[in-house]
Amino acid sequence: MAAIIGIDDTDSRDRGMCTTYVGTMIANQLAERGWTVRQPILFRCNPAVQRKTRGNAAVAVPTDADATTAFDIASNVVEHHAVTADPATNPGLVVADHSPETISPTVAEFAMDAVRTHHVPADAVALINDCGYKSKVWEEQWGLIGALAAIGAWDACEDWTYECILYRDRQRWGTDRVVDTASVFTVADRWYPEIWDTVDRETGEPVCIPNTPGPVLLGIRGESPSVTRAAATAIEGETPTTSTVFRTNQGTDMHLQAGEIGELTNRHCYRVTGEVRTSPETRRGGHVFFTLGDQSQTIDCAAFEPTKRFRDRVRSLRIGDRIMACGEVTDGTLKLEKFAVRDLVDTIQVTPNCPDCGRSMESAGANQGYRCRSCTQTAPGKVSKSVSRTLSIGWYEVPPVARRHIAKPLVRGGFDAQTYPEQ
Ligand code: ZN
Repeated sequence: MAAIIGIDDTDSRDRGMCTTYVGTMIANQLAERGWTVRQPILFRCNPAVQRKTRGNAAVAVPTDADATTAFDIASNVVEHHAVTADPATNPGLVVADHSPETISPTVAEFAMDAVRTHHVPADAVALINDCGYKSKVWEEQWGLIGALAAIGAWDACEDWTYECILYRDRQRWGTDRVVDTASVFTVADRWYPEIWDTVDRETGEPVCIPNTPGPVLLGIRGESPSVTRAAATAIEGETPTTSTVFRTNQGTDMHLQAGEIGELTNRHCYRVTGEVRTSPETRRGGHVFFTLGDQSQTIDCAAFEPTKRFRDRVRSLRIGDRIMACGEVTDGTLKLEKFAVRDLVDTIQVTPNCPDCGRSMESAGANQGYRCRSCTQTAPGKVSKSVSRTLSIGWYEVPPVARRHIAKPLVRGGFDAQTYPEQ
């Protein structure tokens, strides 16, 4: 016997529940009744979808319990914990009556599409019926999408990372978290780069500790279950009541697909190559914008204020630079998460200086070159001047404080050029 329990959309932005916690409670309940639970999956769907709860997380719990038992236990836990009073919360539960090893390709494909494109509830309902899975919704059917996708994730992801999440005692939810920040930095230094996005060393923030109310004390992300567990355990602070190491598609860039400027769809996430066409401009609010183009089309790119020092990298781009830009396209703007410099402009055309007196020359009229105002020197046209660049060929990224859950930190490696990781 075997089953996979998928849940989604049990959390609330305001009231502080978390789908990973509901997944942990389901796993604990199963274990208490003597069933074996395999490593749960934390699956991040398309971060660009409009309708999402905090972080757009869904969870799958594989177990050797039969599907009926798994369904009853999970249903009770969701009933008990999900914030169904929040009208934006539409919990969904799906239970597959088989082990992760026999997931059908269509369910894996559904999971991949849930990260790269968009589903409507009817897509999930149809596939759930085809597969003969059990399902339940508490409000609308939106939660079925992530719940089914989390089940298919097992076969949809090639790259996995891990997160060890520690949970707080219920009495403490909503109160300040008691965590020794110094020990967070010690742990981050000791295990980096096997763990990442634990802290932001420039801003001094322990980014592994959430700011929202709710059950999560902290989460350590990294390359293996044992390292994330060891690092989380080494942090000093209030005693967690329970913890889970999730296998996850966080930090993988699974959301990015290859795209061409002019053929990008709103609320999808892409890698696109083009040439910088306008000088980066800082607008009100500290957001930095520039235009990227190819032979025939252009798209606006933006680095928003929360991306902090990443904006300095973007401001260093010059007209003519060739880059690969990565991020979400919404309302015709690509929100940069990272970019690769492919080619840098190293000379610019400038008005010549007079070889005799050194003063800047002036235009002698259309197509008539330049002349000096104070002597008789002339020049046929603009001259090349080399410019020094602060950027190099290679990859740049937003800092840990601004990282999306699903975005791959450069320190993880596997990129096609030199990388300049933010720590
Ligand atoms: Zn002169």
